[in-house]
Amino acid sequence: MMVTTHVAAGLLLATPVALLAPEFALPAAAGAVLGGVVPDLDLFVGTHRKTLHFPVYYSVAGVVAGVAAVLAPGPLTVAAALCLLTAGIHSASDWLGAGDELRPWERTSQRAVFLHPRRRWLRPRYLVRYDGAPEDLVLTVVLATPAALAFEGWPRALVVGGVALAAAYTVVRKRVPEWLGI
Ligand SMILES: [Zn+2]
Repeated sequence: MMVTTHVAAGLLLATPVALLAPEFALPAAAGAVLGGVVPDLDLFVGTHRKTLHFPVYYSVAGVVAGVAAVLAPGPLTVAAALCLLTAGIHSASDWLGAGDELRPWERTSQRAVFLHPRRRWLRPRYLVRYDGAPEDLVLTVVLATPAALAFEGWPRALVVGGVALAAAYTVVRKRVPEWLGI
């Protein structure tokens, strides 16, 4: 799935925070954006979908951080909870997409995401056929819409910009490997 889809899922999670506790809207949004983006930085360092993808550990830590944020609400605890929960959802939902290959529509990779406690790769489920597939864009738009309405300021601008970027990426997705010469 596209990074915009992961960020949109996090912002959807942050939307009730923005509505119920507007004073924490910005930390919640910042945590969600960070949690949506950070796992995919392992595209550049280490092994993609393994080094910074932790479907189980992020999720467990996210629940603990969520409880901490409820018991001791503050900008840091709220941001940490949203960050970890979003990173957990990001890592787990990569299982539902394609493998870690450059042309995921060819379906030659059996590696969707690494399950650290079991020390093995989960096989792709292809519910979203590949990142930048039309259904991926639909998912970005659907997940991002509540956040676009609930948030103001930079989170709203980020959502609108992210959706535009996702749309452009979807249009050119299959040409990207060719352009990169890979
Ligand atoms: Zn990922």
